[in-house]
Amino acid sequence: MNKNRKNIYYEWISIITEIYNNLPDVPALTCPNCHKLGIDFQFIGDLQTKIGYMAIWCPFCLHGIHLSRVRIPDTTQAFSFDTSAEEISKRIPNFIHVKP
Ligand SMILES: [Zn+2]
Repeated sequence: MNKNRKNIYYEWISIITEIYNNLPDVPALTCPNCHKLGIDFQFIGDLQTKIGYMAIWCPFCLHGIHLSRVRIPDTTQAFSFDTSAEEISKRIPNFIHVKP
């Protein structure tokens, strides 16, 4: 395991914590990969149970992570599982998934 790569993964995880702690007013977040400001995120899931997954990505270098089985906060706009793939792709770009 490349140590540096592992650190970048944990930096992405800490960004998620920051998003959860600051919703609905998430400050501009720095990308662990390219260091630009402007991390974006989207929750997708079951709007009744509020469980789903979360995509977090950098719109500049198109790196990010995907977390499954997360709690969807009430303070964020989430897509339901019924949302079409086309609709989701308009919101979430194809990005490279950073692995632990
Ligand atoms: Zn980036």
